[in-house]
Amino acid sequence: MTMLTGTQATPLGYSAPLTPEQEIEARAKLIQALQMSLDPNDILAIFFKHLQAIIPMGGIQFRFANNKDITKLGRDALHHCDYRLTTDEGYLGEIIFNRSKRFIESELSTLEILLGALVYPLRNALRYQSALQLALIDPLTRLGNRAALDSALRRELQLAERHHYELSMLMIDVDHFKKINDQYGHSMGDQVLQEIARTIETVCRESDITFRYGGEEFVVLLRKTNDRGARTIGERLRREVNNLLIEKSGHSINPSVSIGISTRAHGQKEHISDLFERADEALYRAKQAGRNCVRDLSDLTPA
Ligand code: GH3
Ligand code: MG
Ligand code: MG
Repeated sequence: MTMLTGTQATPLGYSAPLTPEQEIEARAKLIQALQMSLDPNDILAIFFKHLQAIIPMGGIQFRFANNKDITKLGRDALHHCDYRLTTDEGYLGEIIFNRSKRFIESELSTLEILLGALVYPLRNALRYQSALQLALIDPLTRLGNRAALDSALRRELQLAERHHYELSMLMIDVDHFKKINDQYGHSMGDQVLQEIARTIETVCRESDITFRYGGEEFVVLLRKTNDRGARTIGERLRREVNNLLIEKSGHSINPSVSIGISTRAHGQKEHISDLFERADEALYRAKQAGRNCVRDLSDLTPA
């Protein structure tokens, strides 16, 4: 069931009320148009376009249920009326209509009919969007997964090239993780992965992006960070992980990680695989050097 809660209705506006036939036709056209997309912002734009052809409207705003994201279309104006959009599965968000003239009663009732056509396509689009987002998140650590890393890396490399800034990658692998699983059980292993993921997030800045790349492997992309900066962050991270004492069922574990670093070569066009290969090679060297350490390819330590 759809519940629409409205506020504001002052008679003084203009647009002529629609006849019942016109109303049915407008609604049918709108429903058809709203089927064209599964992107919530597209859905709102289609709705706004159709709405403007029926009721003069300055702009609309949609405040998403997370109370953070807002989509604004058209312009702000003095008069507004707002509706909370809800389905039997919960709250979708709030829509606010703006214009310079007051709304009249007949317009509000047309608006409500049109909103009825918006609610389910919008709900479907919001569901689809959150499914897409979930598909990019690793459920155990809540970090981005490998698919998220692939697209982020492509984007970050392009940005670094365009704006001539440095980009570094940390490839992080938990040391002797198999032993942790074997000795203390898989669920202890999972807890170790979660705590290491939280440590990575804490150590890295907000602009750095963290991913769970594979089983016990993580990747961090460090924007605007050269090899020295990456080395500093990598070292801090290694230390913080090594300071963890993870306790469960009377056991306590003090994990460690090995970290390989690569940095985008200055002024050079690089392929995603170049950064990966160098970070992987550096990680291999860190493992060879005895683990619980950070390496990049400038290290003289023989592999
Ligand atoms: P190294 O120091 O050389 O990296 O040794 P390692 O034991 O960490 O490396 P190895 O690749 O031999 O073992 C990784 C283990 O990680 C094997 C796999 O069973 C375990 N693993 C992968 N994904 C998960 C997970 O989601 N949870 C748990 N608990 N273990 C996992
Ligand atoms: Mg590994
Ligand atoms: Mg490992």
